[in-house]
Amino acid sequence: MSKKVCKLVKKELPKEDIDSYLEYILPANYLCKKCGRTARKQEFLCKPIKITSSK
Ligand SMILES: [Zn+2]
Repeated sequence: MSKKVCKLVKKELPKEDIDSYLEYILPANYLCKKCGRTARKQEFLCKPIKITSSK
């Protein structure tokens, strides 16, 4: 679990393993400022910012 969603999507679209891809991105707690990807953990993104859900 050390891959970055940004790279994952760039290299090979996660169509082969959609289930584990979903584990990376759901729930979407962080957004990549650079790529616009979302992920569960900030370590999965290259320029993560916290998404603050409105209450
Ligand atoms: Zn990124």
